[in-house]
Amino acid sequence: MASTTIKPQIDFLEEPMRLYIDGRFVETEGSLASVDPATGRTLADAPLATEREVDAAVTAAARAFDGWRFTPPTQRARLLWTLADLLDANKDEFATIEVLDNGKPMWEAQAVDIALTIELLRYYAGWTTKIDGKVLPNSIPGMLTMARREPVGVVAAITPWNFPLLEVAYKLGPALATGCTIVIKPSELAPLSTLRLMQLVDEAGFPPGVVNVVIGGPDVGAALVRHRGVQKVAFTGQTATGKEIMRAAVDGLKRVTLELGGKSPNIVFADADLEAAASGAFGGIFFNQGQACVAGSRLFVEASIADELVEQVVQRAGAIRLGSGLDPETQMGPLISASHRTRVRSYVDSAAEQGAEVAVGGSEATIEGLEGGFFLEPTVLKGVRNDMKAAQEEIFGPVLAVIPWKDEDELIALANGSDYGLASGIWTSDVSKALRVAERLDAGTVWINTYGMFDVAVPFGGRKHSGFGKELGEEALEPYLHSKSVWVDLTAAVPQSGQGITR
Ligand code: NAD
Repeated sequence: MASTTIKPQIDFLEEPMRLYIDGRFVETEGSLASVDPATGRTLADAPLATEREVDAAVTAAARAFDGWRFTPPTQRARLLWTLADLLDANKDEFATIEVLDNGKPMWEAQAVDIALTIELLRYYAGWTTKIDGKVLPNSIPGMLTMARREPVGVVAAITPWNFPLLEVAYKLGPALATGCTIVIKPSELAPLSTLRLMQLVDEAGFPPGVVNVVIGGPDVGAALVRHRGVQKVAFTGQTATGKEIMRAAVDGLKRVTLELGGKSPNIVFADADLEAAASGAFGGIFFNQGQACVAGSRLFVEASIADELVEQVVQRAGAIRLGSGLDPETQMGPLISASHRTRVRSYVDSAAEQGAEVAVGGSEATIEGLEGGFFLEPTVLKGVRNDMKAAQEEIFGPVLAVIPWKDEDELIALANGSDYGLASGIWTSDVSKALRVAERLDAGTVWINTYGMFDVAVPFGGRKHSGFGKELGEEALEPYLHSKSVWVDLTAAVPQSGQGITR
């Protein structure tokens, strides 16, 4: 199989890369190679921050906070909207950067990553003017009480590589809308779109220090989390990292929201539209090369239709066209790195050792012209038990574990029988059954007769080891706000001692 590999000319990738701190582009001594996973070749050298740049970024964000929080909401809205417009005007370039840095197919980068990022910035631009407080009732005559909602301060946003820009936007939108300032540390594996976004932040005219970017790996992330100037950590990544971050945030009593891993059940009942369910099972696992937190990686099929449904998924998986994300024919790109591919493959071996059958795929794939790429065949495992390693741990790759079931109570126990609780899917033509099962699933999202849908206005987040705190929608604003109770004595200029003090 051959695939188009001609790299488009993107000026940004040819320029020296710099951090963005306090409204300035900052050179660093060290650098970090960002690799094109389709070729294995270095795409660009990203600037590597040290603790010094982390400190400079947080200090700048703290300095900018008072100015930004009191900037009229209409003006904050205009800046966010301008940023969205600039991104819109450069959307093809951004989609191409995502394809090159992450490996995903172009249509995915365009229709999901970049399109949703633009909508999200506009959505949160709208919220800036709608963050209200409350007049609170009280039982003390002549006393007015109010709750103000105020921004928490400097936010540290730490993000993964699977949706590089979008994961940043999930945090940038609500942080800026509420009046917080932000220091972003994107994944060291795909940092380029975030660096390019800083050129647009600068062009849009955000005041210096409101948005800052540092680049680096776990040590840079850890320095950011423990910095005294950070009030809130917004993290998306692996569950193990989330736990480390929560521990590190304890001393500073920082607010933390954690969007972590998943092992989501995608459930098919015998009365489902089988073609739609097969398509949903297929897209649920192979979208973004299976590197999606919401991947429907455990396919629970009612036993009476299991053979028929699985055969459809296997056929589709076997026909997937692997290649460069730049090639319009490509349906699935490479995995993010060689080491990640080795890790994903090890789960196929482990499942086979534990008695599962590899119905399709399971091997590394070599694509003509892209011999250095990290491709893996889309894989379907049959005969999986829910207690196998491949059914319990997040693989984060194109590997589907099929588990048949016969009884609804047994199904619910199996579906909920996971440390994770991120997403889930149900395929059936019986609405009451769908809603009954949806209520019993221990997951932050349930999709019925669809899978993987997202909208800027619909909150998303996990339970159990998938984390806590929502992104998207109005709910995503809350972690960036705290409330202040304000008391006003309307009856006297001088308070009378002791009266009404009920602490
Ligand atoms: P990761 O945990 O390895 O890294 C995520 C980020 O944390 C990176 O920027 C990394 O440099 C940083 N980091 C690592 N160790 C750190 C530490 N000790 N202190 C501070 N920062 C640290 O995750 P990943 O491999 O980049 O991403 C894949 C994971 O992300 C998967 O588990 C996936 O399910 C999850 N994810 C979850 C969601 C969601 O919304 N729930 C969305 C996308 C991805």
